[in-house]
Amino acid sequence: MTTIHEPARETEVLTRCDVLVVGGGSAGTAAAIAAAREGARVVLAERYGSLGGLATGGLIALLLTLDDGLGRQVIGGICEEVTRRMREKGGAFHPPAEEWGDEDPEKIDHYRKWGLVWGGARARHRVRYSVAYDPEVMRLVLNEMVTEAGVDLIFHLWGADALVKDGRLIGVAFQSKAGRQAVLADIVIDATGDGDVFASAGCAFDHVSVHPWLWLRVGGVRELERVLAEGAPFFRTPNAEQVLFPWGSMASLNRKIDATNPRDLTFAEIECRRLVMEEFEKLKSSRPELAEAHICNIATQLGITESRRLEGRYILSIEDRGKPFEDAIAITGHWTKYGAVYAVPYRSLQAREFPNLMAAGRNISVDHRTHNATKEIPPCMTTGQAAGTAAAMAIGLGGELARVDVARLRDRLQQAGGIVDYPFDSPVS
Ligand SMILES: Cc1cc2nc3c(=O)[nH]c(=O)nc-3n(C[C@H](O)[C@H](O)[C@H](O)COP(=O)(O)OP(=O)(O)OC[C@H]3O[C@@H](n4cnc5c(N)ncnc54)[C@H](O)[C@@H]3O)c2cc1C
Repeated sequence: MTTIHEPARETEVLTRCDVLVVGGGSAGTAAAIAAAREGARVVLAERYGSLGGLATGGLIALLLTLDDGLGRQVIGGICEEVTRRMREKGGAFHPPAEEWGDEDPEKIDHYRKWGLVWGGARARHRVRYSVAYDPEVMRLVLNEMVTEAGVDLIFHLWGADALVKDGRLIGVAFQSKAGRQAVLADIVIDATGDGDVFASAGCAFDHVSVHPWLWLRVGGVRELERVLAEGAPFFRTPNAEQVLFPWGSMASLNRKIDATNPRDLTFAEIECRRLVMEEFEKLKSSRPELAEAHICNIATQLGITESRRLEGRYILSIEDRGKPFEDAIAITGHWTKYGAVYAVPYRSLQAREFPNLMAAGRNISVDHRTHNATKEIPPCMTTGQAAGTAAAMAIGLGGELARVDVARLRDRLQQAGGIVDYPFDSPVS
């Protein structure tokens, strides 16, 4: 590798806060709201001009899942509040509580058409507590909630470098059109999805490459009822005029990409957009019901399931499925499995190397297989809420996250509508 030497320079301090959240996806937004509601001075820094990350810009417009697959709700708190607020604006659809866990094939078939039932053909399917929503309504709701909570939200700030002084993380340097500026904080939450902050700070992490996705919304499908009944490669959405196409590159792209490598991302952006248009045109000519269909919008962000994952104080693994933890701060089911439940320990959010650094969302400390359960939007919001709450509680403790009283943290999360316990001993069907 060729390098150049950059001279040391003075960096302007943009602002100071108690809790700095980097990344305004589902996890970071929930973290910022939770910390601010607990009274912390919070800065939420996001590289783009909108909140939600993949949940909005990636058009991943399905909250999978807020239940265990057997009819029991396992996710509440901010995720449920977002759902309620979206529903009140006509932007969310989900099965009513009395249907969760229902095995009626007709109901399952009905909700599958909304993208709310997944899993193999041999699974004993049930109605899930999952939500189809309009990403524009989610953007609106997240903006409202962040504003109401008093979060200092700053868009168009790209987290560039963790700032470490005398072995302590003191904040993050950002790059923007205003140049390089620092935000100093007692506690930092890395909710970038790709672990940009913990990687820059020198923490241990795992890293994988993936096939990218590019979801899109399409209008003008004829005879929608019939087409859906016969099995279609798309889902109904809260907007009756549009369907959601979950396009993925596995069949058409000859390699996986590293989502932290700009050259790989450039390749994927160009190829996936070309392939989506090409395949959509082919579909139109081969399926009469799509003859007059048109693309309403293609995700502005590539769908990246996974890149860096923190190797934190505890790495949650597949062996931990069905296992209680005394420091559980979240419970999650699995979007394709029924009764596959994980408790997420507080330690899986904490970095080993810095006492005041946490991860939230899809880059928390879990192994590759467990990630499939913890990466979904509801658990991302939940680990975000837990991280934000813990951060606020650590302010008076010198920012030392490990000193937070876990019993009190779990209480606070429950008081805020969260679910942190699960009856793991009960029989699973
Ligand atoms: C194809 C696909 C299908 C999926 N299907 C579903 C589904 O049906 N249902 C479901 O619930 N989940 C699904 N998921 C998973 C889910 O969408 C994501 O895992 C989840 O949204 C991740 O949330 P997050 O907040 O952790 O990360 P992200 O949504 O990636 O948010 C990270 C945020 O940080 C910002 N950011 C990144 N780097 C920086 C930086 N250096 N400085 C400042 N800001 C930065 C980004 O712009 C973004 O806003 C799917 C994922 C993919 C890719």
